[in-house]
Amino acid sequence: MSQMPPDMARLPALFERQRQAFARFPMPPAEQRIAGLKRLRAALLRHREALVQAVDRDFSARSRDETLMAEVLTTVQGIDHTVRHLRRWMRPSRRSVSLLFAPARNRVAYQPLGVVGIMVPWNYPIQLALLPLVGALGAGNRAMIKLSEFTPATNQVLRALLADAFDEDEVAVIEGAVDVSTLFAQQPWDHLLFTGSTAVGRIVMAAAAKNLTPVTLELGGKSPVIVAPDAPLQAAAESIVFGKMLNAGQTCIAPDYALVPAGQEDAFVQAMQHVVARLYPTLRENPDYSAIVNERQHQRLQAWLDDAVRQGARVQVCNPAGEGFEGTRKMPLHLLLDVHDGMKVMQEEIFGPLLPVLPYRDLDQAVERVRSGARPLALYLFSHDRQVQRKVLEQTHSGGVTINDTLMHVAQDDLPFGGVGLSGMGHYHANEGFLTFSKAKGVHIKGRFNSGKLAYPPYGGWVHRMIQRWFIR
Ligand code: NAD
Repeated sequence: MSQMPPDMARLPALFERQRQAFARFPMPPAEQRIAGLKRLRAALLRHREALVQAVDRDFSARSRDETLMAEVLTTVQGIDHTVRHLRRWMRPSRRSVSLLFAPARNRVAYQPLGVVGIMVPWNYPIQLALLPLVGALGAGNRAMIKLSEFTPATNQVLRALLADAFDEDEVAVIEGAVDVSTLFAQQPWDHLLFTGSTAVGRIVMAAAAKNLTPVTLELGGKSPVIVAPDAPLQAAAESIVFGKMLNAGQTCIAPDYALVPAGQEDAFVQAMQHVVARLYPTLRENPDYSAIVNERQHQRLQAWLDDAVRQGARVQVCNPAGEGFEGTRKMPLHLLLDVHDGMKVMQEEIFGPLLPVLPYRDLDQAVERVRSGARPLALYLFSHDRQVQRKVLEQTHSGGVTINDTLMHVAQDDLPFGGVGLSGMGHYHANEGFLTFSKAKGVHIKGRFNSGKLAYPPYGGWVHRMIQRWFIR
């Protein structure tokens, strides 16, 4: 008989244990939450080296600096921001009382929801596990984290790190493949935050709906870059190369395709080639350039590239040292020209180092191109023209925007992060993250004198006549 995965067997009991622990301590004070966040910060720094090595093992090659910058640093920053602002976020906010209900007081109290589920993808396995956790703990919750089955080495370190800082009734880790993920999504969480693909997001939301569990869905999509006619090509290319080659394009907010003014495609390609040669003079053995996470993803990208070429795309490979990549999962940046919507790369989120370059006639056409697709997770605009910036901001929807750079909006501690439409719903990071994991409870408090009783039946008295005369008009 086949054995049940160990975490599958533990999951329901762990969930129940956290529920009971929450019921015993439903409103942890700020000091306690801050102490937990500081323990998390210290454990993260203690395990920093082990994490760098584990992600490297999982990816076969993951840049040390990328792990430190894009995972450890972002998490430390998120913790520090939360610690700094938590007391203010937790303070009930005072609201006004209308004349009709005076004398009374109104306030909104922020209450922890209870037990939160967090589901994590493989591409940034540390940051995407720990930043949602920071939001959940800051808001006073307990949390269980389902890690990706594609990052086993990192998971082992994360498990040790979290066990160092928390008892399992406060933070617990679950591992396993689809069967475990399915069971995880079915638990009656007080809130469920899922980061992953749009396709699995639909499945997770359907499972959560059975319990009316509220969800935050952090999904993907085709994030466009618009290079406006006034943009300096070289500066734009630098940011686009960085944003696209970080983690070899396996970033949810990586530029997915670039829209450049018609006639400038070749100059853009040249600028990109030039920048790649400077930032990554070699690729194969370059410790700064990460690999594709596994063979399945590598083959998918290769197949999409083949599909584009078969359908007439022109390919410019950015391979400054002219290396071969056999026997590795390193993949150079490929710029694809003459693409059309029949190609896989123009239909699905690319999630790797392929960048279609599309010409546009005028800004209206570029905006229309973005609007005609699903609402993306991120949008990048290169322009110093305020009117162009305003037009693009007002006429397109996306989860977030960086102007004159790529990726950086996600690293701003005081900005919410989340998608819109098919790229997700809800937010975390910053105060919005605290609100996501809290119940904003409206509380109306009467004193000893209750003027409202004057309006009780029998109706038709002077108070009722006065209300109708002065307040319904
Ligand atoms: P994925 O959707 O395959 O997996 C995410 C999680 O869901 C994993 O823990 C996995 O075990 C679980 N899962 C897989 N199949 C499931 C099922 N049938 N039922 C329930 N759970 C299931 O995503 P991935 O391949 O790990 O990550 C890549 C995707 O994630 C990309 O689309 C990317 O854009 C997106 N992403 C989004 C963000 C964001 O912040 N919005 C961040 C990183 C990645």
